[in-house]
Amino acid sequence: MKTPLEAPEKQVTEETSAKSTGPQRESVIDTSKMSKGQREALELAEASRDPLDERGSFASNLFIGRYDFDRIFPYPGQSEEDRAEGEPFLKELRDYLEKNVDADEIDRTGEIPQKNIDDLFAMGAFGVKIPVQYGGLGLSQVNYGRAAMFLGSWDANLTALVSAHQSIGVPQPLLLFGTEEQKARYLPRVARKEISAFALTEWNAGSDPANMHLEAKPTEDGNAYILNGEKLWCTNLIKAGVLVVMAKTPPRIVKGKERKQISAFIVDVDSPGLEITYRCHFMGLRALYNGIVKFSDVRVPKENLIAKEGQGLKVALTTLNTGRLTIPAACVGLSKRMLEICRKWASERVQWGVPIGKHYAIAGKIAEMAGNVFAMEAMTFLTSALVDRKAGDLRIETAMCKMWATEATWRIADEAMQVRGGRGYETAQSLEGRGEEAIPVERYLRDCRINMIFEGSSEIMRLFIAREALDPHLKVGGAIFNTQLPMAERAKALFQSGKFYATWYPKQWTLGTAGNLENLHRDLRTHVRYAANTSKKVARGLFHAMARFGPKLDREQLLLSRFVGIATELFAISATCSFAQYKIDQGEPADEILSVANYFCRSAKMRIGQHFAGVRENTDRAGYDLTQQLLAGKHADLRKGIV
Ligand SMILES: Cc1cc2nc3c(=O)[nH]c(=O)nc-3n(C[C@H](O)[C@H](O)[C@H](O)COP(=O)(O)OP(=O)(O)OC[C@H]3O[C@@H](n4cnc5c(N)ncnc54)[C@H](O)[C@@H]3O)c2cc1C
Repeated sequence: MKTPLEAPEKQVTEETSAKSTGPQRESVIDTSKMSKGQREALELAEASRDPLDERGSFASNLFIGRYDFDRIFPYPGQSEEDRAEGEPFLKELRDYLEKNVDADEIDRTGEIPQKNIDDLFAMGAFGVKIPVQYGGLGLSQVNYGRAAMFLGSWDANLTALVSAHQSIGVPQPLLLFGTEEQKARYLPRVARKEISAFALTEWNAGSDPANMHLEAKPTEDGNAYILNGEKLWCTNLIKAGVLVVMAKTPPRIVKGKERKQISAFIVDVDSPGLEITYRCHFMGLRALYNGIVKFSDVRVPKENLIAKEGQGLKVALTTLNTGRLTIPAACVGLSKRMLEICRKWASERVQWGVPIGKHYAIAGKIAEMAGNVFAMEAMTFLTSALVDRKAGDLRIETAMCKMWATEATWRIADEAMQVRGGRGYETAQSLEGRGEEAIPVERYLRDCRINMIFEGSSEIMRLFIAREALDPHLKVGGAIFNTQLPMAERAKALFQSGKFYATWYPKQWTLGTAGNLENLHRDLRTHVRYAANTSKKVARGLFHAMARFGPKLDREQLLLSRFVGIATELFAISATCSFAQYKIDQGEPADEILSVANYFCRSAKMRIGQHFAGVRENTDRAGYDLTQQLLAGKHADLRKGIV
């Protein structure tokens, strides 16, 4: 029987096999008034974007005032069967980390012992999701997430090694887009013996891959490509046997104009002409095997092209749509660890006559941590379970999980340092040297900061979510403002959008419905009803912003980020309530579950209130103008008095 969690057949087929590699679509966004660089970046991103399916997802529908709680409730908890399949590996991994991995030593030396890497390969930790037929463990996304949680709670360097390898390295893109031959050739290698890496970034191409210079030139006989150029910050590179490399291939002509093409290749590290020229070092993740790789006439056979020529960015974006869930799962692990440290310290450390946890200032921080840990787990594992159930297009959910969890974890690390006071700032080795417990809060803080930068920075995540949020409106009304389109087409769009908004808009002023909430605890019902109503308020707000700014809305990044912030909190509230009921139904103490879930939902509502207040009144324009003055060299006074 079909459940509301399941997507239509056609979509399931699309999600489970190689993505459609049909012709690139034209953007619905008017790029005619943009700078060349902006236009190229946007056109490339748009051409690489798969359209959202009509049904949307729970999170994407929040932006159009549709609150489909039945798509995430009852909470899709892990089945006994799936749990049993993952248990032997997860138990082995957990025990192994505890007994054999010295995270502080790895941090101090900047090296992961080869034995640790070999042992993890032997237990299958580098091929968790790779099907058994290719030598992997063939486990689910939820089990992979649970492994990431263990890793994240113990050692960030190993987490990065394992995650860069299988969430963005060779396994994930090959599982999604690889030919049978590519899978048979490479998956057994990366499942059991060779580390892989993902090389996209270059000096001038960070968030903006359109600036990419590394070139892949087809040979005259058409049998291969010749790669020339350099890649920066490639994680795992120093240990890798094989890379996924994004390169520029010859441009296509679209409507008389040249359009950049990016393609994805599998490249063996021992290919002649490939040279690792530098190992990079960072504030945290001190044992990251990250570096620069140079390609001088590196020949890559055409069989190593992933998907079709020109679809590299689509490969990268689609890979990340699911790959992005590993970081939030690791964040859940790390945040739980920090919460443990803080609650112990806050009950032991006595200052001003009482344990510091009895002071409101410290208690507030710890409650906030607990609420965020609960919500983070709810969102991440809800989305992971939906991935396993192939419940449609989850790009918004995964982006929200990544953005929200990495930011919450950073705040938790910051507050954990404050709760630990001076000891938070002291290294584990120094604490141990003078006889105290080696608690590495400063390492956690250093290690987790990067999560808001790589695999899509927080700013890029907000833009990505906002783009998808505006999609239904752009489809209906985007053409009206697109000066690149013929007048007749724009007039037609005006007529059609008028018809659409005449029915859609008044509905956004009615009360939101969340469906049948009989099986939800009454406390949680209140939060879910609030989320259903607030979803309509976001939809109205977004519509008003569109009416006000028209085609210039995409420039209003701060305004859009508030809507993204509200919808993300609504997703977090909804996931939290569903998760809380699941836990209560599983026999966990209802009073404890409700106190943490209620706390989180109230706290999220306060943040939502702040976002709405910011929509009404803000300093966005003044701030933008001030920054332009600063960038133009004005305000010399602000430079005075420093060395
Ligand atoms: C430790 C580490 C590991 C990494 N591992 C890999 C890897 O394995 N493979 C790989 O390919 N890359 C990797 N990277 C690169 C990483 O993905 C990039 O750092 C990231 O994409 C951001 O690019 P950038 O640093 O060039 O910043 P930039 O793109 O220059 O951005 C600078 C700032 O501007 C913001 N910004 C940029 N564009 C916009 C915009 N349009 N609107 C609003 N804000 C914007 C960004 O969010 C950021 O805050 C790694 C980086 C580090 C530091």
